[in-house]
Amino acid sequence: MITNKGSRRSKIVCTLGPASSTTEMIKALAGRGMDVCRINFAYGTVGENEALFKRVRESDPALALMCDIQGPKIRIGEVGTGEAALETGQDFILTADAVTGDSNRVTVSRKALPGEVKPGDRIYLSDGLVALVVLEVAGDDIRCKVTMGGIISSMKGVNLPGIDLAERVPTEKDAADLQVIAALDPEYAAISFVKDASDMIRTRDILADAGNGRIKLVAKIEHPAALKNFDAILEASDAIIVGRGSLGVEVPFEKLIPEQKRIIKKSNRAGKPVIVATQMLESMVTAPVPTRAEVSDVFNAIEDGADAVMLSSETSSGKYPLNAVEAMSRIIQVSGEYIPPRNPYEYDTRPIEKTEIIGHLVYDACRELSQSGAPGSPAEQASQPAREVKILTFTHTGLTARMVSKYRPPLPIVAFTPEQRTARELRLVWGVHAVLVPGSDPGEIMSRRLVAAVKALADGGGVGEGDTFIITGNLDYALAKTNLVSIFTAREVFDMMEGAGQDA
Ligand code: PGA
Ligand code: MN
Repeated sequence: MITNKGSRRSKIVCTLGPASSTTEMIKALAGRGMDVCRINFAYGTVGENEALFKRVRESDPALALMCDIQGPKIRIGEVGTGEAALETGQDFILTADAVTGDSNRVTVSRKALPGEVKPGDRIYLSDGLVALVVLEVAGDDIRCKVTMGGIISSMKGVNLPGIDLAERVPTEKDAADLQVIAALDPEYAAISFVKDASDMIRTRDILADAGNGRIKLVAKIEHPAALKNFDAILEASDAIIVGRGSLGVEVPFEKLIPEQKRIIKKSNRAGKPVIVATQMLESMVTAPVPTRAEVSDVFNAIEDGADAVMLSSETSSGKYPLNAVEAMSRIIQVSGEYIPPRNPYEYDTRPIEKTEIIGHLVYDACRELSQSGAPGSPAEQASQPAREVKILTFTHTGLTARMVSKYRPPLPIVAFTPEQRTARELRLVWGVHAVLVPGSDPGEIMSRRLVAAVKALADGGGVGEGDTFIITGNLDYALAKTNLVSIFTAREVFDMMEGAGQDA
């Protein structure tokens, strides 16, 4: 039986911030398992975000980048001492005026807010850690009573569940940020507070008008409207984030995990990467080890089918960013050994697409080859060197790799692509290890592409004498995209290499 012991198949997204923005830290995080860097445009100046983006590219060109636009997110302003404690029962003022925040009052980023709330409305700060009820509105001040006390700190979020604010993503600030993002050209842009598919379409149009139609769009599901309209949002998006920080305040928290599971399953079936985000290892903002409940949360999100797990404050502003990534890597590594195989039929769509059939076939081939041992007679098998089975996919846009990944095959997936962009995009996709084969022309005949790919893999030490490969490819790329699944032994490919050498 071939296992995935020791391999890390789920991916890690890290939010970068003051605790993780130096070249040294970016490299150290990547060394511990970070696949994707998220730059949150809700914080920092445009200049700072641009500089951070370029630093990531220079530190490690193989990392994927995700720029996150904040949408109609409301935040509090600066708290003078960084933090302030609010007591249950005290009065507290949210004001549209620019003030230095303390335990009596703080500025709110949305200037129109005093005109949009009324006595009795509930307001939550810091992803729901502090609860307020509105007593009265006096000019620019919203006078509140604290119904659940706690700590507030600079720039934390403000949520108003049940109050339907008219403002939609992309806001005016988002539109300006999207101009910058179009020029930076990240692999992914994350869109906050999406309510329906039209939000994704408007964002895509702004990027296209700015000359960039290729950035993959990630819908952040963090508002109840997005749960209602999820199917259409998924259709209009390239990937999904379960934004539990906001969502856990906007809907009762006990409903969060059932929704998370539903979102993961649907995204998996569509073959679109899904990221579980926020408070995954929250205690590690101040502690070097996670709580047992956090370990369980990460493991279970992976078992449910998350492609990636995300760190927010843990890596952006916490005290232990490296420990947090390492903790996730360790959980991911072990989860790969224990998670039971999927029923592939549950992940076929109807009508099933051609590339999906290829993915499903690869899964079936994996199960057979894992169980039945190497081809050949028992005597031949006994004399063969240690054998591993690997999936080798050839992918231009990444579609074939995603369709193979979505069935969660129990064997390593290596994706060969001539496109650096595709290789980076695949950093977000479960189980896929992308190898850049520069200049491998998809117009080239399949046997030559295979030889070039296996050579690239062997140069990296990734091929053993006794390996078997399950390969996806195409007879003639110009005529039809991926339409072949075939099985080769490493020996057979080496023989082809020698043949190719004699030809030359
Ligand atoms: P944020 O959103 O980290 O941009 O606030 C994610 C979430 O709400 O979980
Ligand atoms: Mn949020």
